[in-house]
Amino acid sequence: MSGFDAEAVVVGAGAVGLACAYALARRGLAPIVLEKERAIGSGVSSRNSEVIHGGLYYATGSLKARLCVTGRRALYAFLDAHGVAYDRCGKLVVATNDAELDVLDRILEQARINEVEGMRRLSREEALALEPELNCAGALLSPESGVFDSHGYMLALHGEIETTGGALALGSPFEGAEPLPGGGWRVRAGGEEPATLTAARLVLAPGLQAQDCAARVDGFPADRVPPPHYGKGSYFALTGKAPFSRLVYPPPIPGALGVHYRRDLGGRACFGPDLQFVAEEDYTVDPERAEGFYAYVRRFWPGLPDGALTPDYAGIRPKLHGPGEPQPDFRVDGPEAHGLEGLVALFGIESPGLTSSLAIGEEVAGRLQLQRP
Ligand SMILES: Cc1cc2nc3c(=O)[nH]c(=O)nc-3n(C[C@H](O)[C@H](O)[C@H](O)COP(=O)(O)OP(=O)(O)OC[C@H]3O[C@@H](n4cnc5c(N)ncnc54)[C@H](O)[C@@H]3O)c2cc1C
Repeated sequence: MSGFDAEAVVVGAGAVGLACAYALARRGLAPIVLEKERAIGSGVSSRNSEVIHGGLYYATGSLKARLCVTGRRALYAFLDAHGVAYDRCGKLVVATNDAELDVLDRILEQARINEVEGMRRLSREEALALEPELNCAGALLSPESGVFDSHGYMLALHGEIETTGGALALGSPFEGAEPLPGGGWRVRAGGEEPATLTAARLVLAPGLQAQDCAARVDGFPADRVPPPHYGKGSYFALTGKAPFSRLVYPPPIPGALGVHYRRDLGGRACFGPDLQFVAEEDYTVDPERAEGFYAYVRRFWPGLPDGALTPDYAGIRPKLHGPGEPQPDFRVDGPEAHGLEGLVALFGIESPGLTSSLAIGEEVAGRLQLQRP
């Protein structure tokens, strides 16, 4: 040990913070994870679709493209190794009319560039042979897409971190940090037992609080803190039998992948998330939004009965763009971005952050100049 209280402190015990801590733990750094809530995974990581994304859509050369594909491969291997449940059920991206067929071709080409395995273009008949209740003019099959038990995944990460000597401090909000003269960080945590500790490295993975936490780091350049945007997504549950065995997605909408069909590991079907920019964290699902859901879902499932949708849950995406603006990449900001040695700050870790989490952890370790284990 090097004279610091900890070799590394990670802020945030969502899927991404835990995966970062796991990447550091694998390199023998025994990280301490500070989490403001009393449980792991109480933020964005517990309010999403739990979909393991193939990585089809993301722009060539982007972090999203690379980290989603490598993260997905690593995630399936991790889930296998730790006995965490998943269903590699596959996904259909459907053109709901002839005009959308070109979009499928563009997505297929992007998926090829992104090196997504096993993609296939399906005719209408081939798609209906797989999912007879569909309405579509054609489809893409992504066999690597699936759903998983994201909470089981976070528990397994937590177990790995503790096994290697790391620790989780719950109810310990990060209050700020200052660089130490000879390198490293003095980190302040609040809560019932406030503490100050020194750490050689600091990783900020606080989800929706990314901007707030970065602003609490002495010397973090204000012009390197991107403005936050909250992209709320609501879900409606289906009463009755699940109509499809695969995930079903129409082509993406501006700013998000859009309302899709998902069946969770328990066989429960739901639709969501839509996209609504909001000013505050508010997780109520407005029943009035159901009307838009019926119209949208019937484009690909005309058999949706009246009255079958009930408001379910909502999540909020930590976005880096507002309505109508292009959707930017993940930001994994190391010293090259903000000039502070031993610090990595994450911004805009929206979808596919869950799928990418293990790869984000590896990327963070790389930005901290740590060798592969
Ligand atoms: C509606 C929706 C659907 C999505 N669907 C998918 C999907 O199907 N597949 C996919 O791959 N991705 C999906 N995503 C994205 C994915 O959920 C996120 O990218 C991922 O969960 C982000 O994890 P995180 O650890 O960065 O954030 P979080 O899970 O929010 O974790 C951050 C943690 O930091 C803590 N924290 C905040 N401030 C402090 C502080 N000052 N001190 C200490 N702790 C602090 C918070 O309490 C929280 O626990 C979806 C997102 C949304 C909103």
